[in-house]
Amino acid sequence: ATPTALMVGTGRGAQLGILIKGPEVLESTHRVDTIVLDKTGTVTTGRMTLLTAHTADGTDEDQVLRLAGALEHASEHPIAQAVAAGAAGRVGTLPVPEDFANVPGLGVRGVVDGHAVLVGRERLLREQAVELPVELARAKAGAEAAGRTAIAVAWDGKARAVLEVADAVKDTSAEAVTRLRALGLTPILLTGDHRAVAEAVAAEVGIDEVIAEVMPKDKVDVVKRLQGEGRSVAMVGDGVNDAAALAQADLGLAMGTGTDAAIEAGDLTLVRGDLRAAADAIRLARRTLGTIK
Ligand code: ADP
Ligand code: MG
Repeated sequence: ATPTALMVGTGRGAQLGILIKGPEVLESTHRVDTIVLDKTGTVTTGRMTLLTAHTADGTDEDQVLRLAGALEHASEHPIAQAVAAGAAGRVGTLPVPEDFANVPGLGVRGVVDGHAVLVGRERLLREQAVELPVELARAKAGAEAAGRTAIAVAWDGKARAVLEVADAVKDTSAEAVTRLRALGLTPILLTGDHRAVAEAVAAEVGIDEVIAEVMPKDKVDVVKRLQGEGRSVAMVGDGVNDAAALAQADLGLAMGTGTDAAIEAGDLTLVRGDLRAAADAIRLARRTLGTIK
């Protein structure tokens, strides 16, 4: 491609809400045949809401919200923000944790009001040899069957509650998937979330292929595996946990509404966080390169 054609393409991209790192990016874009979509914050709004707290027998719901909310308040994860906001709305001012640590892809742990608290996936609890009692396991299964995310809460070595959190699909995502398919791309949904939740979201937007329960550090390996099958892979993501995969992909598209780490790792930024711009970017690249062939 001539530098002029690429410059024109880059300028047109800016008008479409697509920031292109360098003109040469368009060259890798037109070959892409597979598009991996992160779920949370990319296909969904990432703005979750706390819906319900299912408590174990003898557990006080306000205490669950107080301890879980306090810990999640220290995390930037969209689920954490929903839990903290929902808890604060219900119990008022939350205590400040005495200790806090993020466990990427699993949740958070720390000390609140002198209690050692865990909030996150069931696996986070299991790693500390904490099992969900039957009534909480049932609540979790019911929430996930309904396409919601179930977050477990434990303290002092005992599971105390399951919180139901829901995240809405962006109203532009289904149309974006239709447009990506029309360009001949195969969409794949990639997430650390539970398979049932991922499949509910995929069905809602028209994606057939789901890769779920992937740890943040393993997302990059999924991209490598697809490349190993001879595919040319675009990846769209918003999170710190997507940065390595965005860098590995033949084309990395970062949501402009996402984290700085994702934006730095991507080749393109979809400024408005609208997935339809991913299709615009690929169409633009093909057209730009087509004109000079
Ligand atoms: P995604 O790949 O969809 O962006 P993550 O890899 O960040 O999601 O997280 C995977 C899963 O781990 C979440 O769906 C949630 O169940 C759990 N999790 C991660 N961080 C937290 C947190 N701060 N609080 C509660 N659960 C969390
Ligand atoms: Mg994400």
